[in-house]
Amino acid sequence: MQTSATPTHCPYCALQCGMNLTPAPGGGAEVSERADFPVNRGALCGKGRTAPALLAPGVRLTSPLVRRAGVLEPAGWDEALDRIAEGLSQARAGYGPDACGVFGGGGLTNEKAYALGKFARVVLGTSQIDYNGRFCMSSAAAGGIRAFGLDRGLPFPLADIPRTGCVILVGSNLAETMPPALRYLTELKENGGTLIVIDPRRTRTAEQADLHLAPRPGTDLALALGLLHLVVAEGRTDDAFIDARTSGWEEARAAAMAHWPEYVERITGVPVPLLREAVRLFCAPPNAMVLTARGPEQQAKGTDTVSAWINLCLATGRAGRPLSGYGCLTGQGNGQGGREHGQKADQLPGYRKLTDPAARRHVAEVWGVDPDTLPGPGRSAYELLDALGTDIRALLLMGSNPVVSAPRAAHVEERLRALDFLAVADVVLSETAGLADVVLPVTQWAEETGTTTNLEGRVLLRRRALTPPPGVRSDLEVLHGLADRLGAESGSAKGFPTDPEEVFEELRRASAGGPADYSGITYGRLARGEGVFWPCPTTGAADTRAEPAEPTGSATPTGSPATPHPGTPRLFLDRFATEDGRARFVAVSHRAVAEEPDAEYPVLLTTGRVVAQYQSGAQTRRVAELNAAAPGPFVEMHPRLAERLGAADGDTVAVVSRRGRVVAPARVTSTIRPDTVFMPFHWPGEGRANTLTNPALDPTSRMPEFKACAVRLETVGEAPATR
Ligand code: SF4
Repeated sequence: MQTSATPTHCPYCALQCGMNLTPAPGGGAEVSERADFPVNRGALCGKGRTAPALLAPGVRLTSPLVRRAGVLEPAGWDEALDRIAEGLSQARAGYGPDACGVFGGGGLTNEKAYALGKFARVVLGTSQIDYNGRFCMSSAAAGGIRAFGLDRGLPFPLADIPRTGCVILVGSNLAETMPPALRYLTELKENGGTLIVIDPRRTRTAEQADLHLAPRPGTDLALALGLLHLVVAEGRTDDAFIDARTSGWEEARAAAMAHWPEYVERITGVPVPLLREAVRLFCAPPNAMVLTARGPEQQAKGTDTVSAWINLCLATGRAGRPLSGYGCLTGQGNGQGGREHGQKADQLPGYRKLTDPAARRHVAEVWGVDPDTLPGPGRSAYELLDALGTDIRALLLMGSNPVVSAPRAAHVEERLRALDFLAVADVVLSETAGLADVVLPVTQWAEETGTTTNLEGRVLLRRRALTPPPGVRSDLEVLHGLADRLGAESGSAKGFPTDPEEVFEELRRASAGGPADYSGITYGRLARGEGVFWPCPTTGAADTRAEPAEPTGSATPTGSPATPHPGTPRLFLDRFATEDGRARFVAVSHRAVAEEPDAEYPVLLTTGRVVAQYQSGAQTRRVAELNAAAPGPFVEMHPRLAERLGAADGDTVAVVSRRGRVVAPARVTSTIRPDTVFMPFHWPGEGRANTLTNPALDPTSRMPEFKACAVRLETVGEAPATR
């Protein structure tokens, strides 16, 4: 047994904090500080500190489960894999390849996401693959691609944030979602910079701000347009930058000028003087940034909202230059890498498009198949889930828990139950796994090697630090076993190695020349520990050398055959990734949320996270320390709303939308708008927030509108006397 500390990374969010992991005497593992990793410099939140708790045998799955006579029972691996192969084969034989669906996750390593996409398209021949990252970052990705020609969450390292002059943080509560990252905002202020936070709630992050704007949920697009209107009206545009580096300004300008500050105040509820103050703070320093997260992105107009914020950056020259720019704070552990290598419905590895004939030829050659056999784009995540039990008859799901995390969750649960066959690979018996015909127990972060790509576009190596318990296998072994059973005749199992480094070597070749080019990155380089920023094209044999001490900040570093490419910490400094090298303004206009409050449903519900839980809670709800800190859902509401309802703090209230009804204790606080309630979405059952949420989709990104739907409130019972 290994006894020394292994440097690795947290299994949870996209910050991918560095940590050391040491096997503990008597089993399990201990986390210790890893101060040399530059992103978190040793700091961890409670989730990272307690992550080893889930490695214990009593908490996790250690045997495959097969449903017999309606009950999930322990089974051997051969029986479980045979049953999955049979379920998928029957669907394919009866209804065609698209009757097989595949659903992945933003927590899967790059190797797993790559292998899953290849498995779906080569072995199953299905177009029906997407993943839960669609619910996380797709609007920012779509907005980034249409403006800059490329989507990388942050086009600069986090370390640039303290050195800029002003940050507008839109719809992000870093203090709860990734606490170690708050340090960058603290340092920004210590350096004399200013922080503007835009959030309907005065969160712990908003408490840090020099200026907090609290718009109605779903009106950030109008807010950004109002700020751009003022920028133009006050003569604060950077005309030289607009002329030299952008296109489409006149149309975007005209759209913004239709959004008068007083009109924007009526839409958003943010007073005009605060809009003017925001513009003054943003435009005063020579450099500034806008960072968005799920608030503006998880809307049925999320892509246009992101475009509006990018337009503000472009009009003021805050893009494509050092210490300035637009960035998205990606949420899930491998939310960035997971969207680059093929588990997305429209995508091939290297962030190539499935509709691009040249991309199809390149990847098909790496995979050793005829490009004409590759299916086209499939449905997006919610649309795929909505089709279960109708067009899609069998589903293979890895690392996701849509029963809790999908919008209109009761309907999604019903669709999962309507399947002919459901197989789930997970580390715990999640609510979704509990519905499956076969459940496969898989290895966890600490027990397997693989790469992830953090929110900065920094590719990292997570190393195996522990021996997995008997009875579990890696996701790569699962795909190998299934390919062996389903593709034996074509020999496709040969293309599904179980060694992560072997998969990564193939991923390098598949991504070569694509937008997200990893071909110059090797495990050997990553072993140095600080990661490599993509794009990083190959320069040949030198790629195997150790990482250079300090990557350059150039937008287009080249490397040479004698030296490895240094990676690209900062994008767009010389040119944007569009055909003409110019960033594109997109003319966008305000539109209402898909479901406006009315007499029957008069209040807006917005959803989000709390610090002690992570996403659907499948993992963190099983960690005693985290569960004690955040044991269940609640409904946050303003005292005025509580008074109108006749509810006191702690009383049980019902929240009802057009899709369902949930109950949870009221949490009365003046830090939220009186017209809005907030619920965290980590729990199943009667307090499941996503029972209520609206699956109205953004027309471009296909992102559901998690952040705003109309609800009514009802009192159910008083708080227990002891509370
Ligand atoms: Fe893990 Fe994210 Fe917490 Fe860091 S901030 S320890 S990556 S959950």
